[in-house]
Amino acid sequence: MCTSSEIRKPCRVLKVLSNFTDMKNFDDILHSGNYDKNSILRMLNAEGGDFQKLISKASDVREKYIGKKVWFRGLVEFPNICNKDCFYCGIRRSISVNRYKLTDEEILSAARFAYESHYGSIVLQAGEIQTPAFTERITGLVRSIKKLSDNKLGITLSLGEQSGETYKEWFDAGAHRYLLPIETSNPALYKKLHPDDGKHSFTTRLDCLRSLKQTGYQTGTGVMIGLPFQTTEDLADDILFFLKEDIHMVGMGPYIEHRHTPLYNYRQEIPTLRERFLLALKMIAILRLTMKDINIAAATSLQAIDPMGREKGVMAGANIIMPNITPGKFRNDYSLYENKPCVDEEPEECLGCLDAKLSITGHEIMYGEWGNSKRFR
Ligand code: SAM
Ligand code: SF4
Repeated sequence: MCTSSEIRKPCRVLKVLSNFTDMKNFDDILHSGNYDKNSILRMLNAEGGDFQKLISKASDVREKYIGKKVWFRGLVEFPNICNKDCFYCGIRRSISVNRYKLTDEEILSAARFAYESHYGSIVLQAGEIQTPAFTERITGLVRSIKKLSDNKLGITLSLGEQSGETYKEWFDAGAHRYLLPIETSNPALYKKLHPDDGKHSFTTRLDCLRSLKQTGYQTGTGVMIGLPFQTTEDLADDILFFLKEDIHMVGMGPYIEHRHTPLYNYRQEIPTLRERFLLALKMIAILRLTMKDINIAAATSLQAIDPMGREKGVMAGANIIMPNITPGKFRNDYSLYENKPCVDEEPEECLGCLDAKLSITGHEIMYGEWGNSKRFR
């Protein structure tokens, strides 16, 4: 069971804004093209007309550097078994949830669906498991997916922290992108979000991120937005972290509380869902202005708050969407947070729905293309 004693009371919450004093005109900041921490803070605090200007500027930059294009990555979530106990996550080890395993055939059939639906790529995402058997299984699956798609389907993995040898083995088997969210770039905040049990270390996570880049993966990371204890300055630092680490792709979305996790005790201390949603859109827009050519995914948690959440993420500068192609019967058991969208849909229904919504916003879905990050040379 989760107890409130697992984490300390928040000292500063997101609503506490920075002591930012620079009173430069917002338009000047937006059009300067050179964004320091003060400018980022100013953009994070944008409201009303300034907010609209920020989104519109990011959309222009996206159009110039990437085009009005969106690439799909079919997301297969398997298994919901995890060795870790992150305080925010609905499939953490100590939570009571129906643990399911997809068979190899079920995973390959999801990959076949992605291929036949002309998705450029798929993402294999799971809880963190570090065993030789798991490593071997993933290697086999990556090879089989390459084979069934005649080498055409791009493969992103999101399987947590692993050894450099494991990353290399999967890379050699044919995976070419890896998503390892850093969750927050502030080590002190990271500590508050994870148990102090030797398994959850910010330094190890950062080392893994760097090891992925060295191995040759297109490397992605991300943060959650609106977490307990998080300040606006933390979010500004997250943007600067992506820049400093020269990340190729980012997936970030609002934090959404899950009632059976320890962080749920702090739900009164965080911004409202609407505020978190708007902050996430600002983060996407600011990142697009700061790193014009990277891939930015519109996270599923955006859609958990707003039915057009992912599409609004695209309008704020994102260019990647990850439609869920996990067989519908398993989706309820992979609830990282509450109100997770599309848990009662089959993959075919998701595709039709997304297609329609994106065409309303005037974006073209790039079927059959990998959609590599332009940042990745
Ligand atoms: N286990 C792997 C890992 O942690 O890297 C990959 C899968 S993990 C389930 C994917 C991501 O979901 C996490 O890294 C976190 O960013 C996000 N997530 C987990 N709980 C969340 C929550 N309550 N609200 C929003 N996002 C959450
Ligand atoms: Fe496991 Fe990832 Fe959830 Fe942490 S966020 S408990 S590593 S699945």
